[in-house]
Amino acid sequence: MKITVIGTGYVGLVSGTCFAEMGNKVTCIDVDTNKIQKLEEGIIPIYEPGLEVMVKRNYERNTLKFSTKLSENLGGCDIAFIAVGTPMGDDGSADLKYVLQVAKEIGQNMTTPLIVVDKSTVPVGTADKVRAQIKEELDKRGVDIHFDVVSNPEFLKEGDAISDFMKPDRVVIGADSDETAEIMRTLYSPFFRSGSARLIVMDVRSAEMTKYVANAMLATKISFMNEISNICELVGADVNDVRIGIGSDSRIGYSFIYPGAGYGGSCFPKDVKALHRTAKEYGFDAELIGSVESVNDKQKLVIAKKVVKRFGEDLSGKTFAIWGLSFKPDTDDMREAPAIYIIKDLVSRGAKIKAYDPKAMHEAQECYLKGVQNITYCNSKYEAIVDADAMLLLTDWKEFRIPDFEELKAQLKTPIVFDGRNQYNDKMMQEQGFEYFQIGKQPLK
Ligand code: NAD
Repeated sequence: MKITVIGTGYVGLVSGTCFAEMGNKVTCIDVDTNKIQKLEEGIIPIYEPGLEVMVKRNYERNTLKFSTKLSENLGGCDIAFIAVGTPMGDDGSADLKYVLQVAKEIGQNMTTPLIVVDKSTVPVGTADKVRAQIKEELDKRGVDIHFDVVSNPEFLKEGDAISDFMKPDRVVIGADSDETAEIMRTLYSPFFRSGSARLIVMDVRSAEMTKYVANAMLATKISFMNEISNICELVGADVNDVRIGIGSDSRIGYSFIYPGAGYGGSCFPKDVKALHRTAKEYGFDAELIGSVESVNDKQKLVIAKKVVKRFGEDLSGKTFAIWGLSFKPDTDDMREAPAIYIIKDLVSRGAKIKAYDPKAMHEAQECYLKGVQNITYCNSKYEAIVDADAMLLLTDWKEFRIPDFEELKAQLKTPIVFDGRNQYNDKMMQEQGFEYFQIGKQPLK
């Protein structure tokens, strides 16, 4: 099939590349000329394991190309995916300006019948808006070209994006016509050859809703466990044991019940807010979903509060090493990362920061922590700890799992570790001479 993917970010680039890998002819479009130029030179703008090799392979065999010009890439195209951002608007709702702009451009430029697919995460009712926008532009042009609008939300996880896309747990298709659903089924059929993946076809509104509900459910599990961790700490229980104790119940399961420094990223925070907002628009106060968000906002500062409890409100003269800036491992994405909130809080109290992350240093410096004073960016985790008063582990990158504890102790001014991801065993840390603070368990005396 001939496919155009509009928006070449995490989702657009991964989807486009994986469709190309299956032999489709794909053009990835973006308004960012710098990004497109880099991609044409073989420079991948994001860090995602396995992506670079696949992009280069498909670019070389002409199944994947890049362009800034949508107008030149719609004629003869079978399917156009909208994969632009849907950031949080001022009122918490999903801002649809990029999606509707793309819909407008599609209406202005399409010359042959087309299936338009909303792959961006968009609130219920967006497909109707996209349809209306395209129709308006076609009417302005005085032409009648057949098109259909499908919802196909994306469930890939950054860090595992390629394998999630190539071997999906499920693909959700929201389509109002059997014919269109069948074309989508054909497109995705190569991804189902092995494994037990399922393609689930439903109406458009249910598909749009499914994405928000999936993210809200996962965020709920995280906030629930974080709330439990705070109670555990107060009552003298160990959340790590409690987690194992409850996860062994197959109705609960082990996934997504790890306590930590709060969730971040480009999806959970904005999608939980947007779902809450959607309910409000329909006159319903979704209390549980609202609490998921407020629990998370507080959780992001739990580690900073532990630092303040240990070192006092005034942190001037103190230096803290930060291990991990990205919102989770295996990505350079720092959107809504707990590290942003923790570092800003510590710096506002006069602290100096020495930060290290395997992949997100550039994002931090150029974007999310740009202009924040008193941060030194270090080349390694061991450089970051030299003469620091404590180390704060904020992202569970594999390289932080078993560090050289002797080196850690030798380089820190005082052997104190605040662990926002419960990576270490507290008894072992105590034996090694560390003062060790984790989430959901009081430090050993
Ligand atoms: P992103 O910010 O990484 O990429 C969006 C891209 O769209 C940018 O490169 C931007 O320049 C481009 N763009 C904006 N307007 C455009 C236009 N008019 N024409 C062409 N390109 C345009 O965003 P993302 O993380 O890929 O997310 C895209 C959507 O997918 C969002 O709705 C998001 O919620 C959803 N989603 C993201 C993930 C994820 O892990 N990142 C997972 C599932 C779903």
